[in-house]
Amino acid sequence: MAQYSIPGEKYRLPMGTKKIRQTVHEDTIAARQTKEDERQDSRRLFRPEEREESVRNKTAGSLERWQRAQRHLAGGVSSGLRRSARPYPLYFSWGTGAGIQDVDGNTYCDYTLGWGPNILGHAAPEIVRALQEQAPLGLTYGAQHDLEFEVAEQLTSFIPCADSVCFANSGTEIVQLALRLARAATGRQKHLKFEGHYHGWDDSVLTSYHPSAFQIESSGGAPIPVGEGQLPQEIAVVAQWNDREGVEAAFAANKGKISSVICEPILCNSGCIFPEPGFLEFLRDITRKEGAVLIFDEVITGFRVGLHGAQGLFEITPDLATYAKALGGGMPLSVLAGKAEYMDLISTGKVVHAGTLNGNPLTLAVAKAVLTYLSKDNGAVYEKLHTHGARLTQTLRDVFAAAALPIVISSAGSVFHVSFVKKKPRNYRELLAADEQRYSDFALALLDEGVLVLPDGRWYLSTAHSEGDIFETVAAIQRAAE
Ligand code: PMP
Repeated sequence: MAQYSIPGEKYRLPMGTKKIRQTVHEDTIAARQTKEDERQDSRRLFRPEEREESVRNKTAGSLERWQRAQRHLAGGVSSGLRRSARPYPLYFSWGTGAGIQDVDGNTYCDYTLGWGPNILGHAAPEIVRALQEQAPLGLTYGAQHDLEFEVAEQLTSFIPCADSVCFANSGTEIVQLALRLARAATGRQKHLKFEGHYHGWDDSVLTSYHPSAFQIESSGGAPIPVGEGQLPQEIAVVAQWNDREGVEAAFAANKGKISSVICEPILCNSGCIFPEPGFLEFLRDITRKEGAVLIFDEVITGFRVGLHGAQGLFEITPDLATYAKALGGGMPLSVLAGKAEYMDLISTGKVVHAGTLNGNPLTLAVAKAVLTYLSKDNGAVYEKLHTHGARLTQTLRDVFAAAALPIVISSAGSVFHVSFVKKKPRNYRELLAADEQRYSDFALALLDEGVLVLPDGRWYLSTAHSEGDIFETVAAIQRAAE
């Protein structure tokens, strides 16, 4: 049997939970052994229906809760995308390290990491300690405290474009502040975004996110709202990722009206599609030439692809950049970082930035712990993340090449995307050719094998994933691919 590190053993658990969790972990070891024995006894090929039945059989507690939740919780989930889980959303009772356990006692090696934030894994000791130390001193003051400037100093030392920063609670909010600053600085109203890029759920950016081929065809090039009830989309101008001519044409058609260009510098929300060589330089140049602000939405790439984010990786410095997810380590934190000429609009009060819970000490205590951990030895931990990512992506490539199935994996180290598509996509439209059903079946088989992944092909790694976790996952990938 593979050497699987039981997550709880690596961590000092919060007081009071230790005994319960130790028992849980002992059970987990026993359960894993039994599961492995069963596998050895009866190795057989699973069809997707069989996988689904197998998952259903061992997740009755989740199904019962899912049915109960739908009665009084709108949609049964707290964020719409979670509804797409197959066969139904699972309910979890604890997570520690790279492991997470559902209410039926099944443990999984977790590559969803809360959709990205848990870069140190679940309940990382550094984070738990920061919370335990800060919580007795107060959760929020609505006033000033030392952690504000301490974290701001850390951030400005790591983020190339940051003369200063400000805090909010979600990626959605902070993107709105970035766009508002750009409008204030330029006196223009529109922004240019790219199809397939996600920048939160505000009307202004929730447009042309994941349109179907039919929607694209029938839209006649107009921005496509994602849901009903959204305000008219005329302030958004949409272009294709990696399409220089399209961006030039958009500027030409909206002369003097575009305040900013916003993008995910690596398109993590749709296939982790990289900018082609020179494309970010092109965006840097054209925004300068047209007097528009360049905004990198680093909500995913920030502190994940490296200590200096995508701007460090590509050595392109935007005017403004937004952060959330990994930086908050699981707490609701977002950050706007930017050049003084824009951030000064906040300092002077010309642009409003407000929020009751902004910069609360509990969240910033965690951010400080995350940044301190990630920046140790000049970010040496990223090497481990990248090595583990490379091991998994190589396995996926090998396994599917052996089965003669086309697969494209685009990796930015500790976040990568798997799609069953023949040609490497250069934008969202080309990603539409991917076989989503096949990926969904594969993800379900992985779930059955004890590996939790997101439904859209994205995988996240944490610093808590051990050699043993990767080893075990490699074996699970091989079995699931059968
Ligand atoms: N920008 C990007 C690139 C994101 O991936 C997300 C969330 N997935 C957001 C913005 C919005 O962040 P939040 O969910 O915290 O509002």
